[in-house]
Amino acid sequence: MSVRKKPIKKVTFRVNEMLVAIISIYILLVSLQMWLLFGTINKALDKEHIDFARYSAIGSVVIFMCTIFFLRYVPDIPTGQIKIHKPKTMTNPTDLLDTFGRKHDYLRLSITDSCNFRCLYCMPDEPFKSTPSIELMNSQEIYEIAKIFVQKFNINKIRITGGEPLVRNDFETIIRQISTLGASIGITTNGVLLHKYFDLFEKCGVKNLNISIDSLDREKFKYITKRDLFQTVWDNIKESIKRGFNVKLNVVIMRGFNEGEIPEFIALSHHYPIELRFIEFMPFTGNSWEKNKVIPISEMLTLVSQHFTYEKVEDHKNDTSRKYKINTESKGVFGLISTMSNSFCAGCNRIRITSDGKMKNCLFGADEFDLLKSFRNNEDLTELIQLGIIKKHKEKGGQFSKMENIHNNDIVNRSMIKIGG
Ligand code: SAM
Ligand code: SF4
Repeated sequence: MSVRKKPIKKVTFRVNEMLVAIISIYILLVSLQMWLLFGTINKALDKEHIDFARYSAIGSVVIFMCTIFFLRYVPDIPTGQIKIHKPKTMTNPTDLLDTFGRKHDYLRLSITDSCNFRCLYCMPDEPFKSTPSIELMNSQEIYEIAKIFVQKFNINKIRITGGEPLVRNDFETIIRQISTLGASIGITTNGVLLHKYFDLFEKCGVKNLNISIDSLDREKFKYITKRDLFQTVWDNIKESIKRGFNVKLNVVIMRGFNEGEIPEFIALSHHYPIELRFIEFMPFTGNSWEKNKVIPISEMLTLVSQHFTYEKVEDHKNDTSRKYKINTESKGVFGLISTMSNSFCAGCNRIRITSDGKMKNCLFGADEFDLLKSFRNNEDLTELIQLGIIKKHKEKGGQFSKMENIHNNDIVNRSMIKIGG
């Protein structure tokens, strides 16, 4: 879906390019004037003057054409520099409100559908091809689209996700650019490449790291991810904690696979200042979801109570996890995310953008709004974004309400890796 509106004004020069362009135009005009003046009107002047004027004019034309070529065809060199925009005074940023009165101020931005893991619950069963890079948002498009959300719609929190976001070659450029927008930034990652980016995150003010780890057992970890990289991920988790990042560990709980590890995971929250998040297994296209593989959070809590006493911790507005603590001296907390058994749709404040630039108003929704296409056509995205929010369903993308009624084959959606969790 796309809405045609008056073109937005895109400023795509860098400062140095801008200077070259201005100087070239200036030289060109002066030279042309000299050529006319000396060459045509005043024929009495000697050949040296005319040649000088002629060559400087030709030189200027060449510089001018090179500049135009540079600006037109090499628009996005990953220098880490961002394009300069005059901070526009946005007169009236508006809240993104849906028809149920929910305010959306949290953007989950997927930057790739490639991944260095192959998690069973995330990747579709059939052979998987990631999207060709030309169809993905490039770093500049990611920045410009995110900027619209922040500056026009009061988005104050951005989470970068994927696929695995850290596999993108221009990840550093993307983070540097997004960090200039002033929203709080979080990253969701499988953790395997984190050691390459700790310094960058510290420089750019990225504080929130959600790291996925579904088993503390090396063999099980390898089974679920198809990669023998438990130790690397675990070392990176410990380093993240040591460096003072806000660390949340995401654990998808699947019956018969890892529910027995819940106590071992929770014990970590006693020793480390982290939030453990146990997530109910969710259905997506091609992930062989079955309702009997879902362990509802009520059952998880019963399991916890067999090993620990726990107390409730206050949740923040819009939190998806219900948080608990095993004892008052614990450094961390654990949370339960009941996506399936008891949805938290009523407090939903999230909007998603897939790596190919489609806005999704719900993780489970089939509706998609093609922001990238409109952006590439120089259209104003405002109305399309608002339309996407207005069409948001009350619950679970309007696709299913009760878990009992869900049949995996009926789901109209992408696979999780193509949405961005
Ligand atoms: N690659 C990164 C990672 O693994 O954290 C970011 C993308 S991943 C799609 C985001 C989150 O979605 C992960 O925490 C993952 O465990 C979760 N996830 C993926 N498929 C899921 C499913 N079927 N049910 C519940 N959570 C799922
Ligand atoms: Fe990759 Fe994350 Fe999906 Fe695992 S959950 S396959 S790490 S995107």
